[in-house]
Amino acid sequence: MADFRTHLSAAVGGGVLLAVAGWRGDLWTPGEALSVAMLTAFGGILPDIDSDHSHAVRLIFNTLAMLAVVAGALLLHSRLEPGALLMACGGLYIGVRYVLSPIFKRFSVHRGIWHSLLAAALCGLITSAAGYRFLALEPGLAWAQGVAVLVGFLIHLLLDELYSVDLTGARLKRSFGTALKPFDYREPVNSVLMLLLAAGLTPWLPTWSALDELVAQGSAFWR
Ligand SMILES: [Zn+2]
Repeated sequence: MADFRTHLSAAVGGGVLLAVAGWRGDLWTPGEALSVAMLTAFGGILPDIDSDHSHAVRLIFNTLAMLAVVAGALLLHSRLEPGALLMACGGLYIGVRYVLSPIFKRFSVHRGIWHSLLAAALCGLITSAAGYRFLALEPGLAWAQGVAVLVGFLIHLLLDELYSVDLTGARLKRSFGTALKPFDYREPVNSVLMLLLAAGLTPWLPTWSALDELVAQGSAFWR
């Protein structure tokens, strides 16, 4: 399998490419393009949330904890006194970083359900829904950020598969086919839950027409 540094540099490369293309194509402001690049990079390490590789997991949960603090501050700042707000945000950080992370580690299998196209789609949808609802982003930008996570995620899965091919002898290692799969057939129940979760996000998503528009703009750009 590809190591952490390979994953991060490939995803950063993909993210920068995407961001520059969108910025040059007048799709995004420089700030918006930067958010797309960063989310692609984050998507590129996200699948290893299920690994016991502490480097990737620590970075992912640190990022998620900070995102939880930002979302919490945005949602609660009008309802809580500054002191209480500080406590709530601190609680969110500790909750994600030191409670959720070990629980997650306990119950996930490496190269399991998080290394699948279904998980890639789910993470993209969550990003779009969260940006649209919590950060009140324009529908087009919210979709673009979801697509960024999806692209980073796909780069990761592709790299894992490439690295499972033994390049010298063209032999397939046993890990071949465990990263780039539609869903996890060994965990059908969890896969169905993931599918239901994705379907349940529908009412939270930005308008579909904005996604159509983004796709049309994107394909016009490449032509
Ligand atoms: Zn991986």
